[in-house]
Amino acid sequence: MQSISVPRTNKGISIVTPFFNESGGIERFYDAIVSTIDAIPDLKFEVVCVDDGSVDDSLTRLIELTKRDRRFRVVELSRNFGKEAALTAAIDMARGDAVIPIDADLQDPPELIPKLLAEWQKGAEVVLAHRSDRTSDSFVKRMMAQLFYRFHNRVSSVNLPDNVGDCRLMDRVVVEALKRLPERLRFMKGLFSWVGFKTVAIDYARARRATGTTKFSGWKLWNFALEGITSFSTAPLKIWTYVGALGALVTLSYAAFIVIRTLIHGVDIPGYASLLVAVLFLGSLQLISVGLLGEYIGRIYLETKQRPIYLVRRCYGEPDES
Ligand code: UDP
Ligand code: MG
Repeated sequence: MQSISVPRTNKGISIVTPFFNESGGIERFYDAIVSTIDAIPDLKFEVVCVDDGSVDDSLTRLIELTKRDRRFRVVELSRNFGKEAALTAAIDMARGDAVIPIDADLQDPPELIPKLLAEWQKGAEVVLAHRSDRTSDSFVKRMMAQLFYRFHNRVSSVNLPDNVGDCRLMDRVVVEALKRLPERLRFMKGLFSWVGFKTVAIDYARARRATGTTKFSGWKLWNFALEGITSFSTAPLKIWTYVGALGALVTLSYAAFIVIRTLIHGVDIPGYASLLVAVLFLGSLQLISVGLLGEYIGRIYLETKQRPIYLVRRCYGEPDES
């Protein structure tokens, strides 16, 4: 076991942020981060910005930051790999004793950073930022999120803390543990929880997006939810054994009923409607279960290819080796 005297190696703290078409918010991001970290003079910081294949001038602006401030580094991915992959890249590149992922849109306010650090210095290995107030999100989004967490936590072996985003602090031991998880399809929230470690939470109110718009549409969120559930639960696969068994039981009792009725009352007029309903109902159930199998098999297929999670085109801003 590693002891938890802080700081461990004096490599400093890494703030890691994925950027996808965030050009309009970069100056604001810079100002907010710099004023926060300048106010913590006894710790060294680096800011790892990952450009996730932006098509606006985010990359140019980020590179400009590395020239202005040596604490900023930029990792340019070869295309848009999606937030989870970009975040993985950012965490892989971070060298600090603690790593803090934070969104580019400042929805998780940088003022959280000193609070996260305070808990870490008290000995926590993971400090979660818990959204006590989510009124900045729409009602429907909040409801869907709640539903998702409930369902997920019921069927999965890993418990996702409710209303906790990606903003958190992770100690180096946690980051190294995270790096050992080889999966290609990365549901980061789940992976963060799966590794465990000594965790504490602090509360904050989630702000509105400072500039730009969310990159997550309803359809993307639905797929994100599917990713979460299929990554950490096989319950949706297994449930069909029981649904099937129950169906068979009902069918058998109904068959017995028909046999007895025929013996007593003779041959009846065949029921076309009931037959059709039964056939259609069972047919749909079978299609759903086959579709679900498809969800899992598709993911097995993607995982077996062993493709890298992301590809880096170039890094900007020299790592300070002192
Ligand atoms: N993001 C990314 N790649 C993507 C989509 C989003 O790197 O394909 C980044 C985005 O720039 C932001 C963070 O992920 O820093 C969160 O995105 P967003 O604010 O759109 O998500 P929301 O807060 O609405 O869940
Ligand atoms: Mg956001």
